[in-house]
Amino acid sequence: MAIKTRQEYVESLINVKPNVYIAGKKIENLLESPYLKTTLNNMALGYDWANDPQYENLVTNTSPLTCEKVSFWTHIRQNPEELDQLVKAINHFSSKYLCTMCMSMGLGSLWAATWDIDQAKGTEYHQRFKNFYAELQKNDLRFVLGVMDPKGDRTLSPSKQPDPDLFLRVVEKREDGIIVNGAKMHTTSAPVAHYFVASPSRVLGPEDEAYALAFACPTDTKGITYITRPAHGPLENRDYESPIGCKIGFVESLTVFDNVFIPWERVFMCGEWDFTEPFINYFSSYVRLAKGTCVAARTEMVAGVTALAAEYNGIERAAHVRNKITDMIVDAKIGYGCATAAAKLAQIHPSGICFPDILTGNAGLYHTRLKFVQHLGTMQEIAGGIVTTMPTEADFKDSEIGPLVEKYMQGKAGTSAEERYRVMHLIQDMTASRLTGYLMSSAICAGGTPETNLVEVFRSYNLKEKKENAKVLANIKPDPYWKPIE
Ligand SMILES: Cc1cc2nc3c(=O)[nH]c(=O)nc-3n(C[C@H](O)[C@H](O)[C@H](O)COP(=O)(O)OP(=O)(O)OC[C@H]3O[C@@H](n4cnc5c(N)ncnc54)[C@H](O)[C@@H]3O)c2cc1C
Repeated sequence: MAIKTRQEYVESLINVKPNVYIAGKKIENLLESPYLKTTLNNMALGYDWANDPQYENLVTNTSPLTCEKVSFWTHIRQNPEELDQLVKAINHFSSKYLCTMCMSMGLGSLWAATWDIDQAKGTEYHQRFKNFYAELQKNDLRFVLGVMDPKGDRTLSPSKQPDPDLFLRVVEKREDGIIVNGAKMHTTSAPVAHYFVASPSRVLGPEDEAYALAFACPTDTKGITYITRPAHGPLENRDYESPIGCKIGFVESLTVFDNVFIPWERVFMCGEWDFTEPFINYFSSYVRLAKGTCVAARTEMVAGVTALAAEYNGIERAAHVRNKITDMIVDAKIGYGCATAAAKLAQIHPSGICFPDILTGNAGLYHTRLKFVQHLGTMQEIAGGIVTTMPTEADFKDSEIGPLVEKYMQGKAGTSAEERYRVMHLIQDMTASRLTGYLMSSAICAGGTPETNLVEVFRSYNLKEKKENAKVLANIKPDPYWKPIE
């Protein structure tokens, strides 16, 4: 059984008992907590897609490890075609459902990093990682990535921080495993996953050896506490006022490790600080491709919602409206095009995994994420001030004043006031709510901030060659092909 159903996924969590706190209270029953219902549903959606025959080509693959059909979230991509499939899947699902949980693709970076370390040091990390991966695939389990540390003073390396726990670290090595202490910040959806995977968040030096650490453990491992922030939507169903927030949402956790034991068979890096740089490069290439595709897909969602609001307002033919929606489409397609190109230009690592082109992926994400935030503002501009001033859902539904609200919510003749009222709420949800905050920070910060894109682009671009070309253009150097016709 390599692909679970939604029901099997939910049942598989019955005996998983992570230590979760939300809003000052310990969550005793994950499956019954109102705080976790949208996050659970998001995870379950992935199981639905993988079981739907119409999406078989998008979100399932055959694993060379188990020789079975496995789902999108537990596959190791081996060629540019599979990366292209990944881009198409994220584009399809994120433009309709907001999220494809694509950041988990970063896990593949440990496939290559463990291989590199073993080649250089004769360790056995890669086989351990393969065993772990096979378990994920065979049982169709979900994992979360704990990459980002709390980090304290950003200008100081882990070992220079006044509090040594601001980056997750090994505090003891034993015969049977290691003891780790510290925390990881902003772990998405942790309470509803089966495994927590930790890895370094930055390039480290020799003085930071204790922080060069990667491992996997069940989410309910003793000593781990998830201090969890509720998802952005309301707890009760408000399908007018929070049409997205009611259905889609993610909890985020500050994950604290208090002397947690990890057996050696689940440790994938322990002290190899000199391999944190390639690890970060591998991670960055996957995450930037995934994030770039996701933000482009969400931009397409913004274009569609804006066009519908323009239609209901009767302004869909206005030149400035059409131009602004076209700008949205252009930016979405630049993001999608860069992701597709990054997949096509991918390189195959000797361990068998395929890595997207880091330069193109970063350039696409940098462009699209900044434009996305701008387009949220444009969506408000086209929808109008009603987005934040309209009467509430309770008034709309009230038998006495509801008809008045309906009368004055009318837009273009032929469209219903209710439809217009619903689309304006959708825009409120996307541009003036806690969901807006999530959409913005997810575009701007998740997967590394825009500055990290610029660093990667500058580092990987062959500027030296272009400077040489400039010398030829300026006649500082001769061009052997430039010969005047005699
Ligand atoms: C919605 C969401 C979901 C997320 N999910 C996950 C997840 O599941 N797992 C996970 O591991 N992480 C997750 N993250 C974390 C994400 O990867 C980080 O937010 C991102 O990498 C930026 O790190 P930071 O938030 O610590 O910001 P910082 O790195 O502190 O950046 C803030 C600012 O400081 C600047 N800065 C940083 N360091 C320096 C320096 N040394 N010198 C000068 N300037 C500096 C940056 O350029 C930026 O402008 C998530 C984030 C979001 C928003």
